[in-house]
Parts: sequence; C-alpha cells; structure tokens
Amino acid sequence: MRRAFLLIFALAIIASLLPAQIRDTKIISLPQTSAVLDAAARLGLDLLAEIDGRIFIAVSPSDLRKIEKLGLFYLCDTRTLAPPASSTGPESSTSPIGAYHTHQELEDDLTALQSRFPELAKIIVVGFSLENRPILALKVSDNPGADEGEPAVLFLGCHHAREWISVEIPFLFGRYLLENYGSDPEVRRLVDAAEIWIVPMVNPDGHDYTVRVYRYWRKNRRANDDGTFGVDLNRNYGQAWGCDDFGSSPDPAADVYRGTTAFSEPETQAVRNLILGRNFGSMISYHSYSQLLTYPWGYTTLPTRQSALLHDLGLQLAGLMTAVNGREYFCGQSGTALYLTNGDTTDWAYAVTGMPAYTIELPPVDYLGGGFFNREEDIAPIFQENLPAMLALVDWTIAHPNPVPELSGGSRPFPRAWSSASGTIKK
Ligand SMILES: [Zn+2]
Repeated sequence: MRRAFLLIFALAIIASLLPAQIRDTKIISLPQTSAVLDAAARLGLDLLAEIDGRIFIAVSPSDLRKIEKLGLFYLCDTRTLAPPASSTGPESSTSPIGAYHTHQELEDDLTALQSRFPELAKIIVVGFSLENRPILALKVSDNPGADEGEPAVLFLGCHHAREWISVEIPFLFGRYLLENYGSDPEVRRLVDAAEIWIVPMVNPDGHDYTVRVYRYWRKNRRANDDGTFGVDLNRNYGQAWGCDDFGSSPDPAADVYRGTTAFSEPETQAVRNLILGRNFGSMISYHSYSQLLTYPWGYTTLPTRQSALLHDLGLQLAGLMTAVNGREYFCGQSGTALYLTNGDTTDWAYAVTGMPAYTIELPPVDYLGGGFFNREEDIAPIFQENLPAMLALVDWTIAHPNPVPELSGGSRPFPRAWSSASGTIKK
C-alpha cells in the first residue's frame, strides 16, 4: 500500500514537471487492423510508426476521447520509441543516441573535420538558437577562408527536431567531400569550383529536446504566450507566410504553428541571413519521411515561373537516387505532392533568389517502414542513395551559377489557389 502510494506520488511529481504539451499529447499504440487503420484515417490521426504489428500514434486528449468512443483498445507505451541503443563506430560509441549526432557531437565532429582538412573546411557560426546554441555551417571549398564568389550550394538539415536522419545526410556529405578530395578527381573538381555550405542542424534546441525529453518533438523551443512551446521553423519563412490556415496554423499549440510573424525565430533568421548574404545557386533542405523530392510552390498548387526547370532537374536528381538502391523518390511540386505548406524554407529561398530549392523527404516511404524512427543501420544506405544527387546538384550549379529571382522587379501579389488535400502527418 505504502509502495503504491509512493509510486503514485512519484508519478504525480514527474507529471507536474513535464511541460504542458507533453501532458497533453500521448503516444499510444493499437494493433494494426483494418478497423484501426480506417479509424485513424477518418480521424486524421498522426501515425508515427508501425513496430511489431502495432501502430504508434501521437494523440491529443480530444483524439483519445474519439478513440475511446469507437471502443478501440489501446496501450500507452512509449518504450519502443526511446532512442536506439548505441552500437556503432568510434565517432558515436559514447553517444546517447548511437550513430546519430547530438548537437554537441555534431560540433565535435565538425571541429575534427576542420582540423583534419584546414585547407578545405571551415566552420562558420551562422546564428544562435533561442537557447543560445550555435547554428553551425561547414563551408567546403578549395579556399574556405576566402570569399571567392564561386557558385554556392546549400544543404540544410533538421528544421524538424524529430527527423534525426536529416542531420546525418548533409553531415556525411561534407565528410565525404573532404575525405575524397585527395583521391577522387571529380570531387576535387567540384570542391575547387564551388562553395558547398552544409548546415546539418538548423534546430538544435528542438533536437536536444528530442534527445533528452521527448523523441517526437518537432518545433523549436519558443515559449509561446499561451504557455505552449514551439514554432514550426518550416512554417516561419517569409514567402506567403500565414497566407491561409491550411498550410500552417495560427494556434501556438499546433505542430505547424507558424509563429507571431515571418522570421520571428532566430533559427530562421540565421538561414535567411546566410542565404541573403551569398549568391547561392541551388539548395536542398532535408526532412523525413516519405521519399519525396519537392519544389516550390508549397503554399499554392499554382506553378512557379520556372516550374519546368525545377521539375526536370528534380526528376534527374530523383532518378539518380532511385538508381542506387531501387528506392523510388517521387518528384513533384510541394503544394500538390505532399500537402500545402506556407512559410516553408524552399518557397522563400526560391522566391528571393530564383535558385532551384528542393525539399527532400528521406526514407522510409511511410509509417509502416518506421516513420520518423530510422534505425542506425539505415543511415549509410540512405546517404549512399542521396550522394549522387548531391554531387550532381553541385555540378549543375557550377554550370548555372546565376539564378533569376522569381520576384525580381519588386514583390508582386502571390497567386492564391489551394487544393483540398491536407494530410495530418506533418514531415
Ligand atoms: Zn520535416
């Protein structure tokens, strides 16, 4: 009796220490049956992953009431969503998240690369997060300390905290370029002719939160006025920001909350300033999951002025990726291929620079393949299949260094159009 009382008391203390949103959102699991899948689709539930025949879903209190009303039997169980056990090489052998990088480990590994390759690599702090973590860029070029005005390509990762794989792909690309510069003439040619900028972790505060507290966290860690936390950094950029409530939310509790104004967050300001400060010719922003390669616009189903170029180049990149492991990456306009998004990185970057700006949603293709929770052993094959497209985009940019801004001649009213398609699994 006494033991039970102590246990309840301890649980009450733990619950009171958790931020409001964590108390509100639960992760539950249900058996993977057609009745459960039908209900999940009908209620628009946020499916996280299928593990051992059970579907894991993040639910709000109102979701949970609806599930209970349907008489579905669920379990509250987050054990299987804990970080993977450490099992890999020297870089990560002491990591709390195995082969994935924490922010500190990323800083350490980037610093080690800079020390090994001082002629080719330079770390640049492009800004600081709300909690004052440095947002780190690795510049790879033949003379990284100098601004040589070479064609520049940008690779971004981890706008969304839980999408851990999106840190690793850009990081591994930087390491690959540096380690192969001496032996691979093609790598040398690209690195000599271009500036390759890699920002593996745009959202270090959110990422840290996924490591220490809540694996499923998506946004940054802004303390909102209503007591909730987080702004969705990939809804906080300035092109058509907040133009409707389909592509982002005005509700601070929502996972796609767009913030109080465009660029209200230091993390998006850092990316904005980086892009405006140089002549980038192309970029990729990595996310997960879905196996998609998408291009602007995301806020509307109407095409950009350069949609033929964006589509043709995107198809080439997707084809290169599929050729490696046979895994299909669907290529399409963001607003039609996935769901409407306003205030996303690539819409703004394309609007102000005219550069081909892609979002790549890394594997798996759906929640049945593990959703946001890629295994450690998935990292290498996913990098291998992305590598040819990354190299090809650098090569393309060297040949096409001067993009034409979509909005040249001043801002113009953006066209308004949207489809009724709106998913609820936000990636
Ligand atoms: Zn994402």
